[in-house]
Amino acid sequence: MADKPASPLWNYHPDLPLENPSVFQWPPDGRFLAHWFAKNWLTLSERVMMVILAVVLFYTVYPSLADAQTWAFGWVIQTWVVNMVLCFTIAGGLHWFFYMKKGQGKDLRFSMRELAQNNRKFDFDNQVKDNMFWTLGSGVAQLTAYQVVVMWLMANGYAPTITFTSNPIWFVAWVLLLPIWSAFHFYWVHRLLHVPFFYKRFHHLHHRNIDLGPWSGFSMHPGEHLMYLSTLLVHVVVASHPVHLIFHVIYQGPGAAMTHTGYEDLLIKDKRRLALGTFYHTLHHKYFECNYGNQEMPWDRWFGTFHDGSDTATQDTRRRMKAMQK
Ligand SMILES: [Zn+2]
Ligand SMILES: [Zn+2]
Repeated sequence: MADKPASPLWNYHPDLPLENPSVFQWPPDGRFLAHWFAKNWLTLSERVMMVILAVVLFYTVYPSLADAQTWAFGWVIQTWVVNMVLCFTIAGGLHWFFYMKKGQGKDLRFSMRELAQNNRKFDFDNQVKDNMFWTLGSGVAQLTAYQVVVMWLMANGYAPTITFTSNPIWFVAWVLLLPIWSAFHFYWVHRLLHVPFFYKRFHHLHHRNIDLGPWSGFSMHPGEHLMYLSTLLVHVVVASHPVHLIFHVIYQGPGAAMTHTGYEDLLIKDKRRLALGTFYHTLHHKYFECNYGNQEMPWDRWFGTFHDGSDTATQDTRRRMKAMQK
């Protein structure tokens, strides 16, 4: 597939202005909703793959709730090792394919620039090493910490649980609602992270990445990991199953690598087979004070922080940034 360099700023971008793919449209459009559901849940989308992975890992490598009843080194380390391997394999695999093997060349890559090397903005003067350090260090540790605490709470009856047989409708609804909850939580935490107090202390580290690669997604300051991963605490109040928790863990951790590849889709034989990044969030990394959420939720549109890729939106964003810096 040939790129279409329609703008000198980008190697590739989708048709602009960006459309509104949020499910929250008024009046509700039945055909649109059916199409959204089919695209996300009735194909082998990244979400469906994550759910399958969650079920497989629940039955094979993660410790059980019975293990989690009492604190012990063994099951906590086991969880950490699984998360480490997951993040390393998914982010590392995508990095290997796109940036080492160059399996897709520049087709559907947003940025024109290579990932940074010999750049003092990054730890180790290298973007990939910097991103790996924060992902595999603080990221995996805190992902595991949240997960084991919720497991212990579930195992001891402090966090409510369900099973598929006890509550099949709620069990399925959880899976469908989880990305929407995550998007809601992410928008608000992310806006908070752009308040100068938090931006200077925490969020600037994720924003070192203007050109994105898979390792950039989960590369955050420990303070940001703490805030970003607090989405997992929903399992303490809303009854769920460990499979939901694992899906949530994959979605937030290794899943972040899948939304920051720097490419829009994975091409197989020139066909778009897997969504692996959005221009929406790429615009956030380039222009900062816009597109705090993701396309699932309408918040950016409702609060006037939506960047649709047009020059007018860039000018609006620059004005907003100036006002915030005053
Ligand atoms: Zn990002
Ligand atoms: Zn940000």
